[in-house]
Amino acid sequence: MSDYNLSKAIELKAKEYQFDCVGLCSSKFLDKNIEGYLKKFVKEGRHGSMNWMSQSLEKRINPINLWGDAKTAIILGCNYGPEINPLENISKTHIGNISVYARNKDYHKWIKGRLKNIAGWLVSKIDCDIKVFVDTAPIMEKPLAAQAGIGYIGKHTNLISREYGSWLFLGVILVNKEIIYNNKNKKSNICGSCIKCLDICPTNAFVAPYKLDARKCISYLTIEHKSHIPRQYRTLIGNRIYGCDDCLAVCPWNKYAQKSNNFSFKSREDLIEPTLESLSKLDNKSFRNLFSGSPIKRIGRDRFIRNVLIAIGNSKLEALLPNVLKLLDDESVLVQAASIWALSRINRKIFKKEKNKRIQFICNTDLIEEWYLSGSDLTSCIKND
Ligand code: SF4
Repeated sequence: MSDYNLSKAIELKAKEYQFDCVGLCSSKFLDKNIEGYLKKFVKEGRHGSMNWMSQSLEKRINPINLWGDAKTAIILGCNYGPEINPLENISKTHIGNISVYARNKDYHKWIKGRLKNIAGWLVSKIDCDIKVFVDTAPIMEKPLAAQAGIGYIGKHTNLISREYGSWLFLGVILVNKEIIYNNKNKKSNICGSCIKCLDICPTNAFVAPYKLDARKCISYLTIEHKSHIPRQYRTLIGNRIYGCDDCLAVCPWNKYAQKSNNFSFKSREDLIEPTLESLSKLDNKSFRNLFSGSPIKRIGRDRFIRNVLIAIGNSKLEALLPNVLKLLDDESVLVQAASIWALSRINRKIFKKEKNKRIQFICNTDLIEEWYLSGSDLTSCIKND
């Protein structure tokens, strides 16, 4: 089979396995700019507590640092474009907003199985070795996808495809053979003078175009950050309980994006607008049942309830007071601290009463601090009222 026919056959095979787009590029190097961005990102500590980023920096910079024999990277994308604009959820304070990608099954499993099948087919066609990756190894999928012609990197640091906007799950196959391909993308500034994604970010996480501070990003804070949510971001988080899609959803390129017709990635009905009321009642068992097979399961019940409580505090809904009071006695300190904060936002009188009743019996310094700091936030709220 000629190289041209081979790259065509790869495209057809990818379609057969329900991938929406595929591109090939050399795995010998990544754009020098990307290397510079990544090194600066880590040097400036903008990766926060994601230590795996700094630990695997050299491997991440270039696929051949990960696997010395790699010659070609095949990047495959699967469209998960939502039917409803995710920004519509943000003003509904009684619900918890879950990032679109997490409203159904964990995509890693779906993609990895198919990558393995395509890789097996490829090995049978040409004598080669392969490795497959889905967001679990130190490999820069998005810049590779841009290099392979699937899309462009926008100012929000995410991939933009002309057909699918920013809603693409990506998988990578590395091959130890050079495969000739026809790369369609011309280098271009796809954003022009637009800065919508930088403007909409609730926490101002973009230091500059193409420059994200993950420590401020709501996706990082609600998913990766394991401890208490820093106070300065709590009100800005609003009702976002798992991730944030604002910078993706506002991008004008999504106007032309096709909706996903992949049943595995359609939002589950019960995860489009789950009420904070019902979510706050989840214990370990019901959390595991509700999120079985979902990426949300990874963060565990306590971190998830922490996020729900931040959203409850922001809702200021008195109706949720019983749920918050119950969680003051939760086994998890993370949950207790978030419920103290939520209580301070919902009812000042009851907050003071509970603080006076409990403070003398508390030994945990985080909780003592939470009662006092949430109390002083209260004083400044009262002064500003
Ligand atoms: S919102 Fe505008 S600036 Fe941001 S990625 Fe989209 S086009 Fe680029």
